[in-house]
This record gives sequence, structure tokens and C-alpha cells, in this order.
Amino acid sequence: MHNLASLPHISIAGACSTATHGSGEKNGNLATAVSALEIVTAPGEVVKLSRQQDGEAFLGAVVGLGALGVITKITLDIQPTFMMRQYVYENLPLAEMKDHFDAIQASGYSVSLFTDWQNQRINEVWIKSRVEEGQAFNATPVFFGAKRATKNLHPIAELSAENCTEQMGVPGPWYERLPHFRMGFTPSAGKELQSEYFVPRHHAVEAILAIERLRDQVSPHLMISEIRTIAADHLWLSPCYEQPCITIHFTWKQDWLAVRKLLPVIEKELAPFKARPHWGKLFTISPAELKSIYKRMPDFIQLSRKYDPQGKFRNEFLSTNVFSS
Ligand SMILES: Cc1cc2nc3c(=O)[nH]c(=O)nc-3n(C[C@H](O)[C@H](O)[C@H](O)COP(=O)(O)OP(=O)(O)OC[C@H]3O[C@@H](n4cnc5c(N)ncnc54)[C@H](O)[C@@H]3O)c2cc1C
Repeated sequence: MHNLASLPHISIAGACSTATHGSGEKNGNLATAVSALEIVTAPGEVVKLSRQQDGEAFLGAVVGLGALGVITKITLDIQPTFMMRQYVYENLPLAEMKDHFDAIQASGYSVSLFTDWQNQRINEVWIKSRVEEGQAFNATPVFFGAKRATKNLHPIAELSAENCTEQMGVPGPWYERLPHFRMGFTPSAGKELQSEYFVPRHHAVEAILAIERLRDQVSPHLMISEIRTIAADHLWLSPCYEQPCITIHFTWKQDWLAVRKLLPVIEKELAPFKARPHWGKLFTISPAELKSIYKRMPDFIQLSRKYDPQGKFRNEFLSTNVFSS
């Protein structure tokens, strides 16, 4: 596969249906690897849709949020297996991120910035590169003011790196380096809430600095934030529809009352950039606003009604966020 999420524990259907992503400015989200789908629709018909034959209907169905029916088969684009290695750097000054964001993101096949928004720094920079001639990252001891880590690290520095994929430049297969967390071990903190917003790439630094200004409100409830890049695609409900994005992710402590109050504050800050929320994480953006930032929503509703005229596959999430508009 061209990419994976931070954890390998999720299902292919769930990941693709919610436009789950990894990082890498040349890498589309995981749903972009789908080349064909088989769906059992509400009336019980088996429908096959493919990139080659079904054009727009296929592009509408891939990030389907479960609204079209039960996906029973997925065909994915694959490639010859490849090896990767990753290095972690600590304490990248925020000023360096601001001045060199593009160069930092271009330094590897997949780059993640982890920050707690404290002390004007990015706590950890994870750089994953393919072990191929001409592509490998040259792991200098200092990277834009950050220092190369001397041991494996967890994105939440207090937690054990035993749960994380091997770092320190040790080569390994793509499926054991692209995710941050190891199969068979607890991913992230285990008990947490998550939110994530996709911001058009050209607003990256502005949006990051807007969140940094909220640090005193955000930090008490936060475990860690992660910033990634994703290439544009043509999937109707993908947050990267027709625009390359950065994502700003929040791993929250498990206090929904507090997080619920904070999300509108963050969303207000990101609204000028027309930020789109991750479908599989917590957000409070209104259905009307969602409709205005997802231009293909009316087409998606029409497509869903074709396959599920009675709304058999609707749940509260879909009724509120998609079909109420
Ligand atoms: C620790 C942690 C780390 C994460 N890291 C990332 C990350 O790096 N990047 C990222 O983008 N997200 C990330 N997420 C979010 C995660 O990828 C999404 O929540 C994803 O949907 C989870 O996949 P799942 O298989 O558990 O989904 P499920 O909850 O099983 O499915 C999600 C939705 O997909 C649809 N669906 C699932 N199966 C089918 C089917 N067979 N037919 C039709 N519809 C179906 C349904 O609408 C369902 O509600 C993370 C989540 C956690 C908990």
C-alpha cells in the first residue's frame, strides 16, 4: 500500500469509508487506493463500482460513511513491497516550522509533527523515508534546530515507546514503519478522545499559528497534537476533495464536557480557512456549515438515495450531519 494510518488496528472498509489518512505531501488518503467496491444495497442487490467503469458514481461511493450499503469487497491499488526507516527529532523551534514548513514536510515520504503547543516548539518530528536509492532521508544530527533522538520515543513522551514502531533509522517493511503504533500493542494513549481538522495546504502555517495562540485553552485538556500533510483527491466526501491539505489533530483527555466546549473555539479559529473535520473523530461544526464546505454533499445525498431509498442504513450521525442538509 502507498500509505497507512498511525495505527494498523483498523479495518480497511472503516478506514476507507471515513477517508482515514497517513501523512506525506504526495500521498492521498487511504481511500484513494480503492479501485473497486462491491456493495450490498438496502434492497439486497449486489452493486459493483469501479474507478475505470463508473466515473462519478465511484468517486461518490468510496468515502461513503456507510450510507450506501454494506461493503463486501474492496479492490486496492498495490505496489511492490518496499522497505522504510524512520527517524525522530526532538524540540523543533516553532519559528523554524514557520519559516521552513514546506522544506520540513518535503524531507521525507511521510512526516508528522507532534506538539503540545507549549514552549514555542514542536516536541517531536517523525520522518519516514523509503529505503530506495535517491529517496532515503539523510539523518543529520540536527534538523532545523531539532536534535535527533537517541532512543525510540512515543508521541506522548511520558508513554512507553514499546508500543511504537521501530525508529532510529532501523530499516523495516512498509507496514511496520508507516504506522506509528505496533499491531498487538495499545495504539496512542488507549483511553482518549480525538478531533482532527483538514486545512487547505496554502493556509498551513497561518492555521497552525492560530491554534498555537489558543494554547492556554487547549493544553489543559490535551495529550498531544499531530500535524500531517495529505495530497488532493477527487472523492466527493474526502476532506481533501480537490485540495491538498494539512491536518491538525488533537488527542484529548477523556473529558467530553470540556472538549465539547473547546471544539467550537477551535472551529471558529479555523473557519476562515474552511477547515473540514475528520468524519471519524469528534467535531461540532453544524450540518449547514458542513454542506457549505463539502460541495458534493447534494450529489452524495442523491447517490445514497439511489442505493438506499428508505434510509435503512441511516444512523443518528448520518441523519444529523448529512441528510438534514
Ligand atoms: C488510536 C487511534 C489512532 C487513529 N489514527 C488515525 C490516523 O492516523 N489517521 C486517520 O485518518 N484516522 C485515525 N484514527 C481514526 C480511525 O482511522 C477511524 O476512526 C476509522 O474509521 C477507524 O476504522 P474502523 O475500522 O475502526 O472503523 P469502524 O468504526 O468500523 O467504521 C467506521 C465507519 O465506516 C463505515 N463502515 C465500516 N465498515 C463498513 C462496511 N463493511 N460497509 C460499509 N460501511 C462500513 C461505517 O460508516 C462506520 O461507521 C485513529 C483512531 C484511533 C482510535
